[in-house]
Amino acid sequence: ILKVENLNKYYGDWQVLHDINFDLKKGEVLTLLGPSGSGKSTLLRTLNGLEDYKDGAIYFHGKKIDPNPKTWQALRQKIGMVFQSYDLFPNLTVMENILLAPVKVQHRNEADVKKEAQELLARVEMQDYAKAYPRELSGGQKQRVAIVRALAMNPEIMLFDEITASLDPEMVRGVQEIVENLSQRDHMTMIIVTHQMNFAEKIADQVLFLENGKILENTPGKEFFEKPKTKRAQEFLESMD
Ligand code: ATP
Ligand code: MG
Repeated sequence: ILKVENLNKYYGDWQVLHDINFDLKKGEVLTLLGPSGSGKSTLLRTLNGLEDYKDGAIYFHGKKIDPNPKTWQALRQKIGMVFQSYDLFPNLTVMENILLAPVKVQHRNEADVKKEAQELLARVEMQDYAKAYPRELSGGQKQRVAIVRALAMNPEIMLFDEITASLDPEMVRGVQEIVENLSQRDHMTMIIVTHQMNFAEKIADQVLFLENGKILENTPGKEFFEKPKTKRAQEFLESMD
């Protein structure tokens, strides 16, 4: 469903991503692991059209993406993204936050989207908060709303960048369970950046291990956590225990 070929990205003269290659299949969960600064967020942002790239190609459903802002704007409806800092609009209620893009950008019927939004909120146990404002919610609740808001666009792929990183420990598990559910129940295709190894181990079909903007390993999840191919990945896993 998403294929990346020889992707290189620079910040000015400095190369941040080197020759990135991978193939994400429908229903698969790809986990991006690697030390801080290895380029995980940059790669995700590039896959959502938030960063340009110098050469290489990205294919969606086998079709090469023409990297112009308009194409990406359209694609962003099919490739949803949730960040570490839940970026809800503070002046809108939970429901208004969720309805905004489906109604204004996708021009879908408001009543239909609202019904769907209520179902999605119920799935993450947030059905009682439709009229609440983001400032009235805890971090975990905001992050659940941010996930629902992305899902309300009916994306085909979800990108998650350390979505539990700024949550209190007791909130983390609930948000992880939602993501696990999306994989198991909905077979959602996902790319997940996380520093939580138990979660990564549980959910990853495939692991991309990055360092200094290069893919050192592209290994099936089970194999990666049992016995990574590279010494570097082994050290990384040991340091995370
Ligand atoms: P972390 O685990 O800390 O989130 P990461 O793997 O997500 O790290 P990135 O945020 O992708 O790493 O950053 C990769 C490299 O690119 C880092 O060295 C970072 O300093 C640099 N970088 C990120 N954004 C920019 C930018 N806008 N301009 C210049 N350099 C940047
Ligand atoms: Mg990052």
